[in-house]
Amino acid sequence: MSLQLKHISEAGKKTIEAITTIQQYINGGFVPSSTNETFENLSPYTNEPINQVASGSSDDIHQAVQAAKKAFKGEWGQMKLKERLGYIYKIADLIDEHIEEIAPLESYDTGLPIQQTKKMVARSAQNFRFYAEMVSTRLVGDVYPVDDEFLNYTIQKPVGVAGLITPWNAPFMLETWKIAPALATGNTVVLKPAEWSPLTANRLAEIIDKADLPDGVFNVVHGYGETAGAALVSHPDAPLISFTGETTTGSEIMKNGADALKRFSMELGGKSPIIVFDDADIDRALDACTWGIFSFNGERCTANSRLYVQESIAEEFVKRLQERVDNIKVGDPMDDKTEVGPLIHRNHCENVRGYLEIAKEEGADIYSGNIPSDLSRGNYIAPTLLLNANNEMRCVQEEIFGPVIAVMTFESEEEVVEKANDVRYGLAGYVWTKDIQRGHRVSQAIDSGMLWVNAQNVRDLRTPFGGAKHSGIGREGGYYAFEFYTEQQVIHVALGDHHIPQFGK
Ligand code: NAD
Repeated sequence: MSLQLKHISEAGKKTIEAITTIQQYINGGFVPSSTNETFENLSPYTNEPINQVASGSSDDIHQAVQAAKKAFKGEWGQMKLKERLGYIYKIADLIDEHIEEIAPLESYDTGLPIQQTKKMVARSAQNFRFYAEMVSTRLVGDVYPVDDEFLNYTIQKPVGVAGLITPWNAPFMLETWKIAPALATGNTVVLKPAEWSPLTANRLAEIIDKADLPDGVFNVVHGYGETAGAALVSHPDAPLISFTGETTTGSEIMKNGADALKRFSMELGGKSPIIVFDDADIDRALDACTWGIFSFNGERCTANSRLYVQESIAEEFVKRLQERVDNIKVGDPMDDKTEVGPLIHRNHCENVRGYLEIAKEEGADIYSGNIPSDLSRGNYIAPTLLLNANNEMRCVQEEIFGPVIAVMTFESEEEVVEKANDVRYGLAGYVWTKDIQRGHRVSQAIDSGMLWVNAQNVRDLRTPFGGAKHSGIGREGGYYAFEFYTEQQVIHVALGDHHIPQFGK
C-alpha cells in the first residue's frame, strides 16, 4: 500500500488510510447487509485486499426501495423545485471541494491513472450543476395553440424510484451521470454500483449524506449483479432501470424486468471504428487514435478499438503509431505521470490476455509497448496493436475492453463504411479527413449513436449519448435524460361548456 501512496496528496492519503468496511447507505444511514455477508475488494495495482464490502441481499434492496418510495411520496415529492435544486447544487459543490481525495480513491480502486480521474471527478460535479440548470430552464411541457374550446398542455412528472445499475469503468462519473438527472427531475434513487469499484460510490454516499438530503432520497446497495442487481431489476416498486454495462447483461436485465414492465435505459458495449483517410491531419489523427484507445486503460465504452487506415498512408501511420505505443508510460496509477495503469481486476486482465492469444491464433501480429518490471503484482496489459487484423477475427468483432487496438487498412470509402458497420455494436465512431463532404457522408453512413469528425471523444452534455444496434437502447444526456426520468402527462382543460354527447338524445 505504501508504494502506491507515495505520489498522492495528503487529503488523498488520509482518505485511503481511513477506508474500513463499506456499508450500504439506506434511508439516510450506513448499515451492514441484512445477511452480514461481505466480499473482498482488491487493489488492481497489487492484488492485495483493500477492504471488505457489505454484500447486498434482496432484502437490502427491498429496504432501500421502500425508503426511496416513502421519500418520493413524502418530503422529496412535496418539495418546492427551488429547494430541491438547492440540494443538487450543494452536492456539486461538495464534490468539487473533495476532488483532491475522490480522484486518488478512484485511481486506487480502479487502476485508472490519476491524471485522468482528476478530470472525471471535476466533470462529475458538473453533471449535477448541468442538470439542475436544465431542470430550471428546460423541464417544461408543450402548450398547444388554444382552440375555441380547450387548452391542452403537457407536463413532465417524476416517475418514482429510479434503479441505477452501473459498471466499474469510470464509476464515479457514470454514477453521477445517472443520479444527477434522476434527482433533479424529482425521482428518488437506489444505486447498485459495480462490485469491483465500490470506494467512490461509498464516498458519494458520504457526500450526499453531508448535503443532508431527506432520508431515503438517495440509497446505495453494494453487492453482486446476480443478487442485489437482479433484485432491483425485478422489484415492483422501482419502475425505472437505467443500466450501463455489458450487452449480454443488458439483455438479461431486460428479460428479468419484463414481468414488471420496467422502463429501461440501456448503455451497453462498443467496438468503435476510427477511420483515417489519406488526406487527414496525420499528427492529430495519431494523437486522437492513441488517446482514444489507451486513455482510461482502454476500459472505455467509446474507445476506438478498431483502426481502419487508408492503404496509401498505412505504412507511415502504423510506424508512427508504434513509436507512440513505445513511449506510453505504464505505471502506478497514483503517479501523475502514468498514462496507462493496471486493469480493474485479475479476472478481467486474464480475459484480455485470452483475447491476445486468440488474436495470435487467428493470425494477427501482436505489437506491444513496455511494462516496467516492478509492476508484476498488478493487472497490467501493455498498450497493444493487433497488426494485420481483419473483420473475420474475434478480436475485431468482440469488445476486449483493454488497451488493445486492431489495425486494418482499406482502399475505398465504400469498403471502409462496409467494414466499419460489420460488427454488432454501434456506439461511437471517429472519422479523420480534410474533405468536408466526405466527412459528412461517411459519418452519416456509419451505424453508430455518436460520431466525431476530426476530433477525439469530447462530450457536450447537452447532446444525446447512447448507442445503436447492440450498443444500447435509448439515450442519456441533455434533454434526452429528462425524457427517460419523467412521465409525460397531457392535460386538456375545457374553456367553456363544450358539447358532451348524451345518451337518448
Ligand atoms: P457488467 O455488465 O458486468 O456489470 C455492470 C453492472 O451490472 C454491475 O453493477 C453488475 O453488478 C451489474 N449486473 C451484472 N449482472 C446483473 C444482473 N443479472 N442483474 C442486474 N445487474 C447485474 O459490466 P462491467 O463489466 O461492469 O462494465 C463494462 C461494460 O460496460 C463494457 O461492456 C462497456 O462497454 C460497458 N459500458 C458502456 C457504456 C455506455 O455508455 N454505453 C459506458 C461504460 C461502460
